[in-house]
Amino acid sequence: RAAVSKLTTGSKAFDELLGGGLESQSITEFFGEFGSCKTQVCFQLAVNATLPEEKGGLDSDVIIIDTENTFRPERITQMCNYLGVDPDETLKRIHIARAFNSQHQVLLVDKALELAKDIKVRLMIVDSLTSHFRSEYLGRGALAERQQILNRHMHDLLNFATVNNAVIAVTNQVASKPDAFFGDPTRPIGGHVVGHTATFRIYLRKGKAGKRIARLIDSPNMPEGEAVFMVTENGITD
Ligand code: ADP
Ligand code: MG
Repeated sequence: RAAVSKLTTGSKAFDELLGGGLESQSITEFFGEFGSCKTQVCFQLAVNATLPEEKGGLDSDVIIIDTENTFRPERITQMCNYLGVDPDETLKRIHIARAFNSQHQVLLVDKALELAKDIKVRLMIVDSLTSHFRSEYLGRGALAERQQILNRHMHDLLNFATVNNAVIAVTNQVASKPDAFFGDPTRPIGGHVVGHTATFRIYLRKGKAGKRIARLIDSPNMPEGEAVFMVTENGITD
């Protein structure tokens, strides 16, 4: 079994919260309300993964499964310019797969496994993990089936992580209002299925004066705690 690698977030405080960065061979879940910078963190991870290992990267290509059509190449370019790396070269290494529905999303993980046989892919992002599931499986009657498929999807992602010594980052929403189906508004969607398979769960929220706060929840080897970071034109920084 290959040694676990760590991928930098771009913020020292954030990396320290995670014990040095996001770990390979496991799933890290970012959850939070709309606008809590889940997608921004994903973009920064994508850029950072293409960096050499001595810069906190994985020297690898990246696959982003984009379910909400929120990928913005010009934002990647901004982040590259700050780091002094070529935006076009970086964008060539970030492979975007748009998922049209939950079934397609599940299928894209199989395709990613195939692609990773030919090129080194050590970061896969699913942004958002749950949006399609949430909109397609409505009502209590659909809950069991949704959870079953989501569970299989999570295990497919974990398999990708193991086979490729890869980092998996997924995003998840919190319900904005109490709801019989989705339950407590402060809890991420997907309940136990997502919670038990994700190794690291990070709650993102807005702080004061443009600051952002990451809270580590339920980590197997790190204490719970918080880190303050910034999201600026340069990307994720301290
Ligand atoms: P989520 O995915 O959690 O819904 P996003 O990652 O899309 O949220 O975060 C959106 C926020 O990111 C914006 O409200 C803004 O604060 C910040 N942001 C996006 N682009 C930039 C930028 N170029 N410069 C500074 N902040 C930005
Ligand atoms: Mg988003």
